[in-house]
Amino acid sequence: MLVSNRVRNLHPYVPGEQPADRDYVKLNANENPYPPSPEVARSLADFITASPEKMGLYPDPDSNALCSAIASMLNRTGGVLCRCSADINGVISPAPQDKIGFEITPDMIYAGNGSDEVLSFAFYAFFDPSRPFVTARFTYSFYPVYAGFYDLPMDAVPLNSDWSLDTDEMIRRASKNHGGMIFANPNAPTGLSLSREQIRRMLLQTDSNDIFIVDEAYADFGGESCIPLLAEFKNLVIVRTFSKSLCAAGQRLGYLVASPELVKVVTSVKNSVNHFPIDVLTQVAGAAACRNPAYYADCAKKVCASRDSFQDFLTASGFSVVPSSTNFIFARHPKISGERLYKSVKNEGILIRHFNTPGIEQFVRISVGTPQQMSLLKDALEKILREEA
Ligand SMILES: *Cc1c(COP(=O)(O)O)cnc(C)c1O
Repeated sequence: MLVSNRVRNLHPYVPGEQPADRDYVKLNANENPYPPSPEVARSLADFITASPEKMGLYPDPDSNALCSAIASMLNRTGGVLCRCSADINGVISPAPQDKIGFEITPDMIYAGNGSDEVLSFAFYAFFDPSRPFVTARFTYSFYPVYAGFYDLPMDAVPLNSDWSLDTDEMIRRASKNHGGMIFANPNAPTGLSLSREQIRRMLLQTDSNDIFIVDEAYADFGGESCIPLLAEFKNLVIVRTFSKSLCAAGQRLGYLVASPELVKVVTSVKNSVNHFPIDVLTQVAGAAACRNPAYYADCAKKVCASRDSFQDFLTASGFSVVPSSTNFIFARHPKISGERLYKSVKNEGILIRHFNTPGIEQFVRISVGTPQQMSLLKDALEKILREEA
């Protein structure tokens, strides 16, 4: 027996394709089309020039400077970049509805090697093999992968017919299972979001000993962050990432926000697997990004503007579009299958995402790129619709 029985039960996650055969316009992995703030490159160059010897030393295992920078960014932005505004001096502040109302302290932040790794440690830390955790039938497709990896039973609740989460049924099952809860808000791949008040009502009906994880990978592009609810609910864990709104998918940096007690638990899981998940350069670059939220707020606003005008184009062209609070659009055409759309668009040199999953196979998921990229996609879709007519 060369491999363990456990390995036979793995169902690895399949990410959006990253082909090397052709220079595709890449709108299939919800990456940010804009580069990181110039201050990020500057901070890396300065670091390597001023302290090259630090490249030979282990990094801070707990990324303390980075966690302070993340906390301070959240305090300044409220966790929803697209609604932030900057004054004439470039000082940024959240929209009134996004004000957190208390201070996020660095001991409430745990940072890891991409939010995928943070989620993995959170699954290990908070879910239990003897009690099913509750999630939705369609939400981030990595959750079932972790359930398999850690041998955790999963109770996935079907979505409502309008693709929203069936929060009543999720709460009903969570109150029965006592195994915790996880979903993305805004959700993926639908792009729909629940309001903070809707999630607050879910939390009020949840046993305070059951963990409640909200994955806010897309919250900077719309919807409402649950960060303000941390004051009220000690069982709430919020997972966020630098990959989407902070233009850093290549860097691998994610974090969670929770009570200091829960942060300590995840840290002890981390210290049982890999003491140093975040390399020294990513700690420097991540902190530099956090010092420059006005730049990223500008990127998020541009992405949201492109999203809204592209949704209008799709609707006018006969697509049904699920209204998005994210940097992607989930849409289907009444006459052209999702797979056919994906293939025809790929022929035109553009990658979008098609999920071969029963229930959503009619859809495509389009990541929002620059105005130039969206205009190429618009031309391609117009051509395809003409040919199909
Ligand atoms: C992209 C995404 C992640 C993963 O982000 P990384 O930080 O790049 O690992 C997590 N959750 C959701 C819902 C996502 O869409």
